[in-house]
Amino acid sequence: MGLISELVKGLRVTGGTMLRTITGRELVTTEYPHEMREKPQRFHGRHVLNRYPDGMEKCIGCQLCAGACPADCIYVRGEDNDPDNPTSPGERYGYVYEINMLRCIFCGLCVEACPTEAITMTHLFEMSTTNHQDAIYTKDELLMKSDGSVPHMFPDDQLADHDELLTADGWVRATSTSGVAAYQGVQMWQGTPGPASWEPEPSQDIRDAMSEDDDG
Ligand code: SF4
Ligand code: SF4
Repeated sequence: MGLISELVKGLRVTGGTMLRTITGRELVTTEYPHEMREKPQRFHGRHVLNRYPDGMEKCIGCQLCAGACPADCIYVRGEDNDPDNPTSPGERYGYVYEINMLRCIFCGLCVEACPTEAITMTHLFEMSTTNHQDAIYTKDELLMKSDGSVPHMFPDDQLADHDELLTADGWVRATSTSGVAAYQGVQMWQGTPGPASWEPEPSQDIRDAMSEDDDG
């Protein structure tokens, strides 16, 4: 008798949950890929190599990201800039840049290690491929386009409703953002893709105002 009543109780819970789900009252799934959940700002998706507002590449080919990577999946080869037609503002630029996404654990340590904020992570997470070679992202696939958009695998019309997928949110270094000593140890995030045109964090506004007061 006890067993049957427990069974009935269990079925009642299951039936009630099914009913709430079918009627949409407790829907926890979405119709992916037609409907995509908004990602948390700090979501770690695939990487992007950034440019400065003038179009110059931020990567200086220093290989610090490769050294920091615990999965050993970044390959960088630096090259001297042509003084008459430099690729980056530094002495050198990233001539070859590859990330093996099959090995990447999306930890973001490469982003933290980068001294120029050249590498950040996006909200793009759809990276399935049918062969191993396609999972190795080359510089062509990583470097943002000159209009500041992130290279991606979707036709542009599919992205019309999903522009959050183009957000290059990423760890902008936990050391000194923009090299300003006042931000030493302060964690900052880049909220937009494109040529370094993101809004300051609220706390950054406060510190800027304080430093202006001190100067005044
Ligand atoms: S996110 Fe982590 S594992 Fe992936 S490339 Fe960067 S450092 Fe390596
Ligand atoms: S992405 Fe950053 S850390 Fe990596 S090679 Fe370029 S400048 Fe250096």
